[in-house]
Amino acid sequence: MITIEKSERLKNLPPYLFKEIDRQKDEVKKRGVDIISLGVGDPDMPTPPHIIEALQKAATDPQNHKYPSYTGMDEFNNAVARWYRKRFNVSLDPAKEVVTLIGSKEGIAHIPLAFINQGDIALVSSPGYPVYNIGVQFAGGRSHLMDLKKENDFLPDLSAIPDDIAKKAKLMFINYPNNPTSAVATEEFFKDVVQFAHKNNIIICHDAAYTEMAFDGYKPASFLETQGAKEVGIEFHSLSKTYNMTGWRLGFAVGRPEVIDGLGQIKSNIDSGAFQAIQIAGIAALDGDQSCVDEFNLEYTKRRDILVDGLTGLGFSVKKPRATFYVWVEVPKGYTSAQFTSLLLSKTGIVVTPGNGFGSAGEGYIRMALTVGQERMKEVVERIRSVEI
Ligand SMILES: *Cc1c(COP(=O)(O)O)cnc(C)c1O
Repeated sequence: MITIEKSERLKNLPPYLFKEIDRQKDEVKKRGVDIISLGVGDPDMPTPPHIIEALQKAATDPQNHKYPSYTGMDEFNNAVARWYRKRFNVSLDPAKEVVTLIGSKEGIAHIPLAFINQGDIALVSSPGYPVYNIGVQFAGGRSHLMDLKKENDFLPDLSAIPDDIAKKAKLMFINYPNNPTSAVATEEFFKDVVQFAHKNNIIICHDAAYTEMAFDGYKPASFLETQGAKEVGIEFHSLSKTYNMTGWRLGFAVGRPEVIDGLGQIKSNIDSGAFQAIQIAGIAALDGDQSCVDEFNLEYTKRRDILVDGLTGLGFSVKKPRATFYVWVEVPKGYTSAQFTSLLLSKTGIVVTPGNGFGSAGEGYIRMALTVGQERMKEVVERIRSVEI
């Protein structure tokens, strides 16, 4: 037997906050309770048939059984450029300004390896998608947290970042429409970010995973629509949420060529690209009829209204999200995020995510994902009505 000792990298990971919730979930399950999970941001509806058919066909072609290109098939990168032109009116050179990813999480986790040296600083929002901070840590860097506060509409206050930190920072991660707060960015905010990046020489990484999941006619912008944005950074995108393809692992990053090139260089040393048949299915998704996206959004709108109207009627403080499939709910007075999550689980069998799991500034909130049908969502409201809070 040899002794196995994990790296400092793993030992220094932030504590896993869901351990206690996971234990309680198992316990509630064992009691035979009918659990309703609103905990995980994973669409419950299937991938549209035309995308599955494209995969089926492509999977039979031996040409697709080989190692793909590291940076993505030309045809896929071209489809990304076409989609950006059509959707955002942003022009991209597919050869230099697009890289295909094995899901956007992959690219987000890897980009710090290309630009962060030991001890370097990255600006990361709290609450936020945990991968930003972890990716920075794995690369040997440190995250300076930018708190997202209700009074600032959950946009980071750039003027609150100390000058010396801003001068030292190499990267900034932002994400709008936002997970977990469901906040959306203003044109003004994106302009401020571009200016801040220019002033402090910071690479901006905008995570745009939710631009297509939006309601009531609202169309979120790409960060790259902002003047000067392509000079300061890149945008991550994903087919996961838009087309219910989380399991397929396909995403991409677009923007400033040197940044795309750095990410591509890391990737070429680590992975060998996404399965070509999946990229071909991705082309079918991006080039194909987008009415499926409207249908999904209409369904999310109905679920959202059931949940938010229901919770508001019960006295909760909650805003109707204009985008993302998350509802960010303030926990009632007297509870922490974890306590309220635990109460919901034990008294109602409803699984939600405690806000502090996304960073300490998420304390005081829970995140509920719109991942069950309308009837189930009505049941969620009824169950919450039945508990004494
Ligand atoms: C779901 C999600 C992604 C997408 O991840 P993939 O790896 O593309 O499946 C990226 N960022 C955020 C904030 C997400 O919630």
